[in-house]
Amino acid sequence: MEEIRRKTPASFSLPRRIQRLGELSYNLWWVWNHDAQALYRMIDKPLWDMVSHNPIAFLQQVQRPLLNKVVNETAFLDKYDAVMDKFDHYMQSQETWFETNYDDYRKDTIAYFSFEFGLHESLPVYAGGLGILSGDHLKAASDLGMPLVGVGFVYKQGYFKQKITEDGWQETSNFYLNFNEIPLIPLMDQDGKPIMVNVDLPGRKVYARVWQVNVGRVNLYLMDSDLEENSPNDRQLTSRLYSNDLDVRISQEILLGVGGVRVLRKLDINPTVWHMNEGHSAFLALERVRELVESGVEFEAATQLVKRNNVFTTHTPVPAGNDQFPIWLIDKYFAHMWPQLNLTRDEFVELGRQTQTWGESFVMPVLALKLSEQRNAVSELHGIVSRKMWNWLWPQYADDEVPIGHITNGIHTGTWVARQMDSLFQRYLDPNWQDYADDTEMWSRVDLIPDHEIWAVRRHLKRKLTVFCNERARKMWQQGGFHPVQVVASGVLMEPYSLTIGFARRFATYKRANLILRDYERLINMINNARMPVQIIFSGKAHPADEPGKLIIQQIYRAVKDAKTGGRLIFLEDYDMNVARLLVQGVDVWLNTPRRPNEASGTSGMKAALNGVLNFSVLDGWWREGYNGKNGWSIGDDTEYHDPNQQDEADVRELYDTLENDIIPMYYQSRTPDGIPGEWVKRLKDTIRTNGPQFSTRRMVKEYMDEMYINAMKNARS
Ligand SMILES: *Cc1c(COP(=O)(O)O)cnc(C)c1O
Repeated sequence: MEEIRRKTPASFSLPRRIQRLGELSYNLWWVWNHDAQALYRMIDKPLWDMVSHNPIAFLQQVQRPLLNKVVNETAFLDKYDAVMDKFDHYMQSQETWFETNYDDYRKDTIAYFSFEFGLHESLPVYAGGLGILSGDHLKAASDLGMPLVGVGFVYKQGYFKQKITEDGWQETSNFYLNFNEIPLIPLMDQDGKPIMVNVDLPGRKVYARVWQVNVGRVNLYLMDSDLEENSPNDRQLTSRLYSNDLDVRISQEILLGVGGVRVLRKLDINPTVWHMNEGHSAFLALERVRELVESGVEFEAATQLVKRNNVFTTHTPVPAGNDQFPIWLIDKYFAHMWPQLNLTRDEFVELGRQTQTWGESFVMPVLALKLSEQRNAVSELHGIVSRKMWNWLWPQYADDEVPIGHITNGIHTGTWVARQMDSLFQRYLDPNWQDYADDTEMWSRVDLIPDHEIWAVRRHLKRKLTVFCNERARKMWQQGGFHPVQVVASGVLMEPYSLTIGFARRFATYKRANLILRDYERLINMINNARMPVQIIFSGKAHPADEPGKLIIQQIYRAVKDAKTGGRLIFLEDYDMNVARLLVQGVDVWLNTPRRPNEASGTSGMKAALNGVLNFSVLDGWWREGYNGKNGWSIGDDTEYHDPNQQDEADVRELYDTLENDIIPMYYQSRTPDGIPGEWVKRLKDTIRTNGPQFSTRRMVKEYMDEMYINAMKNARS
């Protein structure tokens, strides 16, 4: 085993007394610790905002006199010492949940593979929900003391930046990550050469180097193919997420699955649990089989062994949405592997083959399902849908016996809670409430928070969102090159007093972002009611190749531009974790209108609920489990529709009725003399109390451990 060197690339010149700010900037623990963020803010607030809350960029740019100044301030130093103590205690604790409950398994390792990881907006190697979930999974695993490592890619060009033209058309622009400003630590060997792995692609080897990201106690390893050893084309292989080019896509997935296993071996990490988060990484199972076959085990026996500690999570309720490749492409990329596995071509193809209306393909979730013993969907309803969808793989079973369970998604509370809400929780729930984020007992204390205090925080958060929209619009205007109508559309007319609804997510057609436009006259009358006005903020990207998705954005944008909507509809460009955080904390109502049952889970509504924002959603995914009749509102019920038009009609009618008859009046009417809407506040406390614990990743990752990982760990020992 060679020695691995990890040296942070940026070196900061900091006063000795506060030198550890540099170390802190290279551990994403600061992302979910408001006190740690406060240190940077206290030094230079304008700069902290200017660098978009990126501590590495901050420390590189901060003026020395400002650093020298805080070194003489007791208030700062006390805070600094407290944060560092907390950090050290967190990193060194031997009494975590995992260690307390699974002491015998300390030496095990769980490898968590994902195509994307969303940890913070300053490390934009994620596209959306799947990535945020992966990031939140790592953070919770760290909090719980789990021996987990992540494996993925660093995409030099991330996803894409979104611009909306004056006519509402989504345009994309590229950007390059500045490696000096992101918390990537290069892994080197003892000669100072990058640690590298390679995989076989048709006619060549492709190399990747490995970077480490510290996520609290968890290490995340990210591969990157931009190396001299590779051809110019292969250097681009890991530059972007979700390419539509099938050759790029399959090459990426081979690098993730096969290369990822090799990364861990190289680092002398030999996991007893291999978790594939979605099918993109399923080739890891083949690589593990290949290792065993190479060491003399028969293919069939090797498969049985590998299955026993593979875990697979499916996220896709729509057959066409599953990651898949044409068989000819599999021939092209895997012909060299058949003999290595002692398989014929047909036996190999059979591992992932599925016949669908459009023909045969090699389907990654099929491969993952066949080669994992632990399998799960991400909500109860998604479990039901998945068991039906994959019943053909287990023809001897009835629908409900198909061996796919469910663990409902969650969110990492520390990451998504607003700072002011965090301090309320610290005062009224527990000073260390995040350590009990899944404890329903503790959350019952939400009722102790005085109405006026929680309402003051809600109002503050809406003002903060308003200022953000206004300032962004101002910058656009000053920058030039924008039509005034684009400035209006981005929220220059937004104000912090009206009932504000948020709708933000990927613009895929089933999400029906345009549902609320369906009765346009009714919408206009509703939002323009002078005594009870309503604002709606839309945000989200469509995949660059998704023309119907882009058309929906355009349809919304045209309504946003329409003078008749009075500037009360807003489109916030370039949805990312920062915009998401401001929205889920700042609006009053979180709207979600997917066509049931196409939303596997959804997580943005959970973030909203944690911050006292009321959900108003279709009973799909998580909300079907989270809604109790009084902690928000529903659209529709458990009805299954066969005609999507009929479904849209029914849902849109209920959407307007509930808004007009329940939501809007409840917000504006029956206020106390000091202006607090009592019924509303009762509801928002209800949503925090009930949804807070139930949809935390603390609950979720514990369930992964108790219901799945432990089985794989036990299997590894027998
Ligand atoms: C939470 C989040 C998502 C996922 O939200 P959904 O409810 O699944 O739509 C997507 N993108 C960003 C930036 C997020 O923060």
